[in-house]
Amino acid sequence: MCKKILAGNWKMNTTIEQGISLVAALIAGEKEIPAHVQVVVVPPFTHLHIVHQYLKNHGIMIGAQNCAAHAKGAYTGEVSAEMLASVSCQYVIIGHSERREYYGENAQILNQKLAQALRVGLTPIFCVGERLEEREAGSYFAVIASQLRETVAMLNPSDFSKVVIAYEPVWAIGTGKTATAEQAQEVHAFIRKTLAESFGILAAQTSILYGGSCKPSNAAELFAQNDIDGGLIGGASLSAEDFLAIARAF
Ligand code: PEP
Repeated sequence: MCKKILAGNWKMNTTIEQGISLVAALIAGEKEIPAHVQVVVVPPFTHLHIVHQYLKNHGIMIGAQNCAAHAKGAYTGEVSAEMLASVSCQYVIIGHSERREYYGENAQILNQKLAQALRVGLTPIFCVGERLEEREAGSYFAVIASQLRETVAMLNPSDFSKVVIAYEPVWAIGTGKTATAEQAQEVHAFIRKTLAESFGILAAQTSILYGGSCKPSNAAELFAQNDIDGGLIGGASLSAEDFLAIARAF
């Protein structure tokens, strides 16, 4: 069975004080989280150390939103995978559509980031997803297949077994427009089938998360689908009440 994961991507939101209050509220509600669900908070880099201090005796894990493509050195402004591991991060998001779109992250860069993350034992949450025009043109399967084939499908099976995939249709991110449970399930099944071409049975054990305007009102229907193993949550993860309600939806 695939691990059930709920990750909250705070993006570039919250001051330290706001981040601490959010984490404190999650800790206060931790008992509401079903035992089989791994909750991960993904705050900005500046918050990771202090958030870890709050979470270290709890079951909630921490992740980062990005990591550098290089191990160390003269890369001003970058944060390495090893630095993230040193503040007890366990997860790192790689290939989020905002990174692809605004920072030009292509398959080559994403492969370097995957290698860095895996080298230091971080679990990559690798994002794929089509744009609105690709959905409307009916080319979304081809787009997603190539996003997978150029990146995670090239890993060796041992590294691949550590990767979590997130399907995030770009048209659903931050727009309030969620993919229907049927639309999401269709793509999740396709992702699993595509990964099985490279990794066989391992694909059946890969956690595939859905992301894109997931909220308390639609989470249960999404998580009930066969190939949806959890969620990558943006906006709704900034409210402890909503994020915990999504966790209860598993
Ligand atoms: C995201 O950016 O990963 C995301 C899913 O955002 P939202 O939930 O706000 O659509």
